[in-house]
Amino acid sequence: MKTVTVKLYNSEYTPQLHDTVNIAGIIWNTAITVLKDFYDETGALMAKTKLQTILKDMRNSPDNSHWRLVGSQAVQDITDRIYRSYKLFFSNRQKGLKASPPRRRKVKKYRSFTLKQAGYSFLPGAKVRIGNATFRYWDSYGGILETARIHTVTVKRNPLGEFFLHVVIDCNVTTLETGDGRGEIGMDFGLRTFLTLSDGERIESPQFFREGINAIRKANRSLSRREIGSGGWVRASKALYRVHERIRNQRRDWFWKTAHDLCRKYRTIVIEDLSLKAMQRLWGRKVSDYAYGEFISILEHVARKYGTTIVKVDRFFPSSQTCSVCGHRNSEVKDLKVRQWTCPRCGESHDRDVNASRSILKEGLKMIASASDGKAV
Ligand SMILES: [Zn+2]
Repeated sequence: MKTVTVKLYNSEYTPQLHDTVNIAGIIWNTAITVLKDFYDETGALMAKTKLQTILKDMRNSPDNSHWRLVGSQAVQDITDRIYRSYKLFFSNRQKGLKASPPRRRKVKKYRSFTLKQAGYSFLPGAKVRIGNATFRYWDSYGGILETARIHTVTVKRNPLGEFFLHVVIDCNVTTLETGDGRGEIGMDFGLRTFLTLSDGERIESPQFFREGINAIRKANRSLSRREIGSGGWVRASKALYRVHERIRNQRRDWFWKTAHDLCRKYRTIVIEDLSLKAMQRLWGRKVSDYAYGEFISILEHVARKYGTTIVKVDRFFPSSQTCSVCGHRNSEVKDLKVRQWTCPRCGESHDRDVNASRSILKEGLKMIASASDGKAV
């Protein structure tokens, strides 16, 4: 199971989604009130089926015809969530932990509703039907949703009033054609060049990465000049959120595309298993740290579809300092400023990043070899 998130484009039907989320919020609040009244009267939690019957009757009543915008499954999901939340509350209270029961929420701040087997369908051309309205979505997954087996669809709105679908899919159902790539490749991640491959290819991070960092700085500055809580501050924090989100979307798109390109081309990809600490040392910037982990998880996901093997070499393996030709370890290369060096033992001249990716590849292939030796014994 895997959750994929796509953004819905705005359309004439967007207000209907707002209404649906708002009504889901109203139903949540109604359910909480019903339970509370019952508890005040009896001192017990009402049975879930009883609450469900009450809500069903209310939904069918002509007074509440607008409730029908929220599908019966979504209503069921609301009651499921409330009871899960109660269960947690009781068990925490029993353990003596601080706990509070589920509460009523401001409808405007209510965020989502969930559909299970019905109430939606994914159509060709990055379109999705929700209820009786068709939306287009930003498909950064290359059509996965059109063929995947889908468990649940959660329609979620963010604080800006934009809508996203969080779709839980079965991983094993969609299989892309096996990569025609035969080769193996090692990859080195860096701040200057996003990926350096062991065959010398360099994959630069797109210009929008750098532009994004500047835009974030600018939005941050503008936010820091406002008085906290003022109208200008709210506008500036929304603007900052929007910048972050735009960059996140662009970056994710590019990651998916890059991961597909690599997995199509190569059967085995060797990377370094960087810890967060090592990553911080390597990247320095928080924005980029984040990106590395996200790229790896996308790469691993795509690799499964193509049958590409991802091998991670030990993060303590000194890839940059090891000569990829003779294996000599040159600790002078530790200094990040050294971009080119010549091996004192074999005389090979190296580009820092290309050599690192070649050492990574060599180490990865050694690991594969010893793993299969192990199996033979
Ligand atoms: Zn050497």
